[in-house]
Amino acid sequence: MLVSHILRGKDSEIITASSDDSVEDVAKTLGERRIGALLVMEGGTMVGIISERDIVRGIAIRGQGVLADSVQSLMTKSVVTCASSESINSVMATMTERRIRHVPVMDDDQLVGIITIGDVVKERISEAEHEAQALKDYIATG
Ligand code: AMP
Repeated sequence: MLVSHILRGKDSEIITASSDDSVEDVAKTLGERRIGALLVMEGGTMVGIISERDIVRGIAIRGQGVLADSVQSLMTKSVVTCASSESINSVMATMTERRIRHVPVMDDDQLVGIITIGDVVKERISEAEHEAQALKDYIATG
């Protein structure tokens, strides 16, 4: 199964932040939209990713004053991406190896979506259920 299959079943909106937004703005958006990370954009180009973990770590190390800082101070600049033609298993391996739960999808340098660990787990459960049903049908019908 490919990443494009997951993207087809998702809302196509990609929720982003601007690189000069404050950490507090980002925290509000994460809370309101019930998501775990935002892609950080500068003039249409992706320049980083910030997740709830970055904010928690930032507060733990620098205190609540970090909320007034710009998102650039906490974001990860080197973003790991995948292509929509990549297999879901391969993205799952990347998430495990790199310990990340969000992977933006880029096709020909164009941002086309974002895949989360929740999307991947949902897809794997659905696949396992289909396989189990197919086996049950096979056994029942001989
Ligand atoms: P997450 O598990 O996705 O909440 O993120 C854990 C850490 O990895 C945070 O420091 C994020 O900024 C960073 N991170 C999340 N997704 C990516 C990604 N696709 N590429 C690079 N770093 C990431």
